[in-house]
Amino acid sequence: MIITTPRDWSRIEANLTDLGARRVFIMGCGQCATVAHTGGEPEVREAAARLEAAGWEVTGWTVGEVTCHLGGTKLESRKHGGEIGDADAVLVLACGAGVQTVADSVDKPVFPGLESLFLGNVIRNGIFEERCQMCGECVLDQTAGICPVTTCPKGLLNGPCGGMWDGMCEVLTDRECTHVRIRRRLSGQGRAGIRTVEPKDFSKTLKPGALNIRPPRGSR
Ligand code: SF4
Ligand code: SF4
Repeated sequence: MIITTPRDWSRIEANLTDLGARRVFIMGCGQCATVAHTGGEPEVREAAARLEAAGWEVTGWTVGEVTCHLGGTKLESRKHGGEIGDADAVLVLACGAGVQTVADSVDKPVFPGLESLFLGNVIRNGIFEERCQMCGECVLDQTAGICPVTTCPKGLLNGPCGGMWDGMCEVLTDRECTHVRIRRRLSGQGRAGIRTVEPKDFSKTLKPGALNIRPPRGSR
């Protein structure tokens, strides 16, 4: 899921003030931002109360089912067309993808209410860790299911580096070196041997990513 944190509130107020907006509609997200406790119903209500306490009028709010889904967000925006129509701006408590989807769905100025941090694993409720950077050429088959691209601070495919000390990482000193973990797990699975991961094709990470899995027109 996409991990987000609340954006510096003074920036949100500055965005609205600079625009001269007095009335605001708020949209949250029922997926990642709800799980991250940044853009679900409680956080949307809290943002509404905060804006109202500071003198803004909140014309309405909603929590979209999947805010980065264009069709669903357009539908949600139509459902709240009156309240959005009455607003001078829309504040979105979702990741950057969700904010852009709302901006494509309404004809009002749209502002982000969160900061988007990383694609994260949910370790426990409220505890998230980055385990994948979506490099487009996965090496987990060779690294015992531990991603060196993401969990080694230097992103080394083959390690450890010269700074590893007593099994610990020289950068994140409270963590075991990724490559020590990889070698131990491979060894435990009887897969030790010589292990060299080939250089990656970084063209696979060129942005912006796009994928169309729909069959060509006329083929159905
Ligand atoms: S190698 Fe790491 S960053 Fe790349 S796809 Fe696999 S888990 Fe993600
Ligand atoms: S000690 Fe290990 S995990 Fe830390 S930077 Fe070096 S190779 Fe990467």
